[in-house]
Amino acid sequence: MKPAKRPQFGPEPDRACSNCARLVAYRADNQAKAPEWFNAPVPSYGPPGARLLIVGLAPGLKGANRTGRPFTGDFAGDLLYATLLAFGFASGTYGGRADDGLMLIDCRITNAVRCVPPENKPTPEEIKTCRPFLDETIAAASNLTAIVALGRIAHDSVVQALGRKRSELPFAHGREHDLETMGAKGLTLFNSYHCSRYNTNTGVLTAEMFQSVFASVRVKLDSKARPTKDQARLRV
Ligand code: URA
Repeated sequence: MKPAKRPQFGPEPDRACSNCARLVAYRADNQAKAPEWFNAPVPSYGPPGARLLIVGLAPGLKGANRTGRPFTGDFAGDLLYATLLAFGFASGTYGGRADDGLMLIDCRITNAVRCVPPENKPTPEEIKTCRPFLDETIAAASNLTAIVALGRIAHDSVVQALGRKRSELPFAHGREHDLETMGAKGLTLFNSYHCSRYNTNTGVLTAEMFQSVFASVRVKLDSKARPTKDQARLRV
């Protein structure tokens, strides 16, 4: 169940990661057009000792790629951060900027692909190339109890990072995959449709559907004792 170790990676790519030629070219293009933007692989956000890990797809061009914090500054972030605040996974006020002072509590956010892809669509090869960073992010999450995968692509990448077959753990909105039975002690993988503007505008995902996933995560985490040794490190 443990992700394969790839010591040459680590959980975060360098700012100048050159693993995916298409994404590097797109980054250079964006750097030329908007040099004041972040325009680099967007690092995970939140305390590494968090029990909850949220996995998105990839930074949005004018959202995380601009601000440098996952889901920050785009439509998907409005629903995600409002929900995290409502369920006690964040404190402060979400202002759509990396310096808005919002803090995550017992929660970390990462992306399956760390660089912004053209048209929000990473290729299967790019998802695979970026997966070692997800492997390492999961491996470094010492208190991991719940993963929320936002959308099928993030779900499939998590499943493969966990060393399982996609056919064993099919994605379905609202589904909870109990991985304890597969040897990952105490870990549950929750599925949600991605909180993208497209999904919410088309009614694929309502705010209530999204909140209900996080309500289940809250119940799950509240039913377990918090690790005491890391209390101070649960906020970032
Ligand atoms: N922003 C992110 O960081 N990830 C997503 O999946 C969507 C928007």
